[in-house]
Amino acid sequence: MKNIAVIGAGTMGNGIAHVMAQNGYKTNLIDISQDALNKGLTTIGKNLDRMVAKQLITENEKKATLENIAPYTILADGIKKVDLVIEAATENTALKLKIFGELDAICEPTTILATNTSSISITQMAAATKRADKVIGMHFMNPVPIMQLVEVIRGYNTSNEVTETIMDLSKKLGKTPTEVNDYPGFIANRILMPMINEAIETLYHRVAGVSEIDTVMKLGMAHPMGPLQLADFIGLDVCLSILNVMYDGFKNPKYAPCPLLVNMVTAGKLGVKSGEGFYDYSKTRKADKVSRQFNQ
Ligand code: NAD
Repeated sequence: MKNIAVIGAGTMGNGIAHVMAQNGYKTNLIDISQDALNKGLTTIGKNLDRMVAKQLITENEKKATLENIAPYTILADGIKKVDLVIEAATENTALKLKIFGELDAICEPTTILATNTSSISITQMAAATKRADKVIGMHFMNPVPIMQLVEVIRGYNTSNEVTETIMDLSKKLGKTPTEVNDYPGFIANRILMPMINEAIETLYHRVAGVSEIDTVMKLGMAHPMGPLQLADFIGLDVCLSILNVMYDGFKNPKYAPCPLLVNMVTAGKLGVKSGEGFYDYSKTRKADKVSRQFNQ
């Protein structure tokens, strides 16, 4: 495996492209938005600068990593002759099904089609192709260059060979892969999202404020960051999409998203990426100031 494509240059896509390119893979980074592509490349450059400053990599390794990345805005141009595609576009079922149909029509028959989805059915995406044995989940964690875990999700028809290839690739990237079967939310979000949703419910019912909820979980449960800060970091739109997928998938009201989360996403308060969520990021990306709405 030498040539790969990453679809989506957002929070996750640029991190995945960074890690693949740093490990020597020729990486085509594709986004329909030129602006998102530019932002993604800037983020990769800044993260590499930070690694050079910390003496984790050399200036030459940074240069080689950047040279391994080729940006594209047209899907068909970026996915020709690649051995693996990792789809990291917006968490939307209809969008992903459309992308997988296009990938299947354009990519070589041997190309493995992986998705970084947080919750959407791998089996459903595989059914949009004629190569269900070669469709698999490769779920990186945020921020990708730092986080150790990759959930490797087997769709109903994913072959053993493809699963082994992606498990081995994850290890080559210095990650620890965990094999999971294909049910909504897999392991990570099936456990994480109900906790985040409950933290938002706790705020919604005015049991306590943002700082109090996060402080209890940080100092009481030894979590490195509180659930509301983590939700801002993941993206409130992403959290809402994942909860909706689990709600629809299990038909269980315990996964119903809190109305406050729905309201915030509708109002465009998406967390760090939009400058405001439960915290205010207008001046810094650090969560040290609670959003004005929650200070009332
Ligand atoms: P994001 O909103 O930051 O980025 C998504 C990008 O996809 C945008 O730049 C958008 O322009 C691009 N895009 C949309 N349609 C496209 C298309 N047809 N072709 C190419 N690009 C397209 O989202 P994100 O947080 O990076 O999430 C991406 C995927 O990763 C989702 O499936 C999400 O569930 C998953 N994920 C997210 C996190 C997280 O913490 N944010 C963690 C793990 C997995």
